[in-house]
Amino acid sequence: MLPRMSARKRVPALVVSGFLGSGKTTLVRHLLADAQRAGRRAAVVSNEFGELGIDGALLNRADDDYVELSGGCVCCRLSDELVETLQQLRERANPDLVIVETSGVALPYDVQLNFWRDPIADWIETDVAVIVVNAEQLAQGRDLDGIFAQQVSSADLLLLNKIDLVAPAALAELEAALREIEPDAPLIRAVRAQVDPALLFPPDPDGVRERRRSEPTESRPHHHESFATEVLSFAEVSDPEALLERVRALAPLRAKGFVLTSAGPRILQGVGPRIELSKLDFEPPADLLGRIVLIRRSNA
Ligand SMILES: [Zn+2]
Repeated sequence: MLPRMSARKRVPALVVSGFLGSGKTTLVRHLLADAQRAGRRAAVVSNEFGELGIDGALLNRADDDYVELSGGCVCCRLSDELVETLQQLRERANPDLVIVETSGVALPYDVQLNFWRDPIADWIETDVAVIVVNAEQLAQGRDLDGIFAQQVSSADLLLLNKIDLVAPAALAELEAALREIEPDAPLIRAVRAQVDPALLFPPDPDGVRERRRSEPTESRPHHHESFATEVLSFAEVSDPEALLERVRALAPLRAKGFVLTSAGPRILQGVGPRIELSKLDFEPPADLLGRIVLIRRSNA
C-alpha cells in the first residue's frame, strides 16, 4: 500500500534558531505559506520560552502537524521529548519537511544532535541550522555576548534579518561582525524573513553535513543564561500609546502578546527598545487576548 512506501521517504529538517526577537516565527510562517503553495507538508515543533502559546496562535496550525514543547529547552532538558515528538509527527502527518523552531536561548547544534538519534536518523535526510539575526540588535550592539555568539557560531546559514531597520551603509560592517564569529556559513539578507526557501538547504559539496551525522560531537552539558518571564494582563486598551510607554519603561528583552484596543485586536511585539502594536490578519484566541509576556534577564 502507498502509505507504507511513503513511510520510507527521507525528508530534510530545519532548525530555526536565533536570539529573542530575531524573527524566527516570521520565518516559519513564511516557510509554511510557501510549503502550502507548493503542495508540500511541513511539520513544526515549536519550543517556546514562556510565551503562552503565542507562536502557535501566530502559526495557526492544525494539531496533527504542529506540536509545542514548553518547560525547558529542546537542546537539553527536552531533547528526548523532541525525538519522541518528531517520530510521532512522522507517523501522524508524514511531512515533507520538518521545522524545529527553538526558543531564543537554545543552542542549535545541540538541537541538531537529536536529528542523528534513532529512530528519526533513519528518515531525516539532511539538516540545516538557520540562525536568524536581528540586524537592528547587531547595529545597536545589544546582547551580543553569550548565547547570541554561540548561536551564530553554529549556523549552517545566517539570515541577516530586519535590514530595513538599519542604514544600508552599515550592512557590510554588520556582516563583517558576523563573519568574525562564523566565517563560513552562507549569509542572506532579508526583510521580514522573506527568503527563497530553496536557499535554506545550501549545497554541501564537501559532505560536511553528512559527516557530522556519522561522527557527532558529544552533547555538552550546558546551562542557559537565566531569563525570567512575566505576564501582564490588560482589559481593553483605551490608550495604545500609554500601553507602549508602560511596556517600554519595563525594558524587556522581548515582549509579545495580543491586546484588544477600541480599534480591534492588535499584536504587541517588543524587541529591545522597539515596542510596536500592529494589526492582525486573524482573530487571536480569546484566552490569549489581553496578555503580554515579557522576557528579561534574571540574576538568579
Ligand atoms: Zn540546552
